[in-house]
Amino acid sequence: MTSTQRTSFPRQGVRETAIAVKTRFQSASDVLSDCLEEIARCEDKIHAFNLVLDNQARQRASEIDDLIARGIDPGPLAGVPVALKDNICTREIATTCSSKMLERWIPPYNATVVAKLQDAGAVIVGKTNMDEFAMGSSTENSAFGPTRNPCNLDYVPGGSSGGSAASVAAGFVCCALGSDTGGSIRQPASLCGVVGVKPTYGRVSRYGLIAFASSLDQIGPLCVNVGDAALICEVIGGYDPRDSTSIDEPFSGLLDSCDKGVDGIRVGVVTELLAPASPDVQAAFTKCTDKLAAIGAKVDEISIPELSYGLAAYYLIAPAEASSNLARYDGVRYGLRVAGQDVESMMRATRSAGFGPEVKRRIMLGTYALSSGYYDAYYGQAQRVRTLITKAFGRAYESFDVLLSPTSPTVAFGFGAKQDPLDMYNSDIATIASNLAGHPAMSVPFGLGANNLPVGVQVMAPTLGEAVMFQVGAQIEGLAQ
Ligand code: GLN
Repeated sequence: MTSTQRTSFPRQGVRETAIAVKTRFQSASDVLSDCLEEIARCEDKIHAFNLVLDNQARQRASEIDDLIARGIDPGPLAGVPVALKDNICTREIATTCSSKMLERWIPPYNATVVAKLQDAGAVIVGKTNMDEFAMGSSTENSAFGPTRNPCNLDYVPGGSSGGSAASVAAGFVCCALGSDTGGSIRQPASLCGVVGVKPTYGRVSRYGLIAFASSLDQIGPLCVNVGDAALICEVIGGYDPRDSTSIDEPFSGLLDSCDKGVDGIRVGVVTELLAPASPDVQAAFTKCTDKLAAIGAKVDEISIPELSYGLAAYYLIAPAEASSNLARYDGVRYGLRVAGQDVESMMRATRSAGFGPEVKRRIMLGTYALSSGYYDAYYGQAQRVRTLITKAFGRAYESFDVLLSPTSPTVAFGFGAKQDPLDMYNSDIATIASNLAGHPAMSVPFGLGANNLPVGVQVMAPTLGEAVMFQVGAQIEGLAQ
């Protein structure tokens, strides 16, 4: 096999697998063995995982098989192999954030999403590679080496949830969880040709998600199809008293929305998010909107000039929050400790050795934006822009049910292609606004662009608008076939 061939094809999805296991067509242990075999065959080339949980997963799969043998329903994800981004805490299992700082840190507790997946019968297969502390758009910032895109190994998988996207695209697992602060689920989903969903801020508990920028972070699924992603959202979502920003609203009925069609649905194409896309991405995107119009959606263009300021506001707010959140890695409480003569030199040595260049850059940017004398000009101003963006979205959603754009302005790029940090930051141009507003958004694969690499269409919806988002996403998926 040459390095440019696709390494694998998507395995059967979440729902098919759960049905196969529940009806005893296939045992959970056999499903897992297939998964582990595929990982053994291709993981060397892809590096989707920081850790594969061979033994624990086998034990869990046989527990599921025992339950079924005794006539007990293990839940909607019976025997479904799932991977977790390595910033989601797993009890007694290393959780590194792909950073030297946490390389040997073992969390004493499970994130709420992990408990929910396990209660639903899922089998956790491993922890996936990512940009260090979720800062990046290519997974090149991992302290443990990059992940490769299973569609073509010469290209990045996107980031920061690159390992999660690659583990699904390679057919290693049916589903992976990622986290999305400025696009880190949707952009890698787009670049690897899978579905990725960022739910409304507060719909999925952040308890046990290692914080990057707490007012923007949200956990969500990456799957091979839209319906599977809807099911996973239903399983991992819902109120959690352990997350003070959790929304106390039911998160259900999403799967039903996938069958509703788009007749009469008002779809707005956002000029400011389409314009920066490359011609190949624009061509695939336009094909998608033409087809949506042909099946009854009312497609129109809308200009939301405020969105042009999203990137600048995000790259002040996210680093500001990160500089505060990452202050806890002081050599005393978590992970790495490098000895020093006194406390200050120990902390300096620890933080110098433990953090990679991008994380240090963000901490410096954030500390600067929050420092007295600059706070109002940078952080305060960015927060005002954030409010303007939320208000502008509000006006747009008076005329439209969903808004559409390409997820990423380009298809996957090559390793080392974006050396200037600003080039890399531009990958997030279309995804960031939904995080700033706290809105849900998803990426659905639609066609191919340059070098036969996947293009993703982003469907955005207002707060708690997941139902209509999935409704449109499912139709786009159908039109892409
Ligand atoms: N690429 C963006 C960043 O580097 C978004 C990351 C994310 O969503 N975690 O900050």
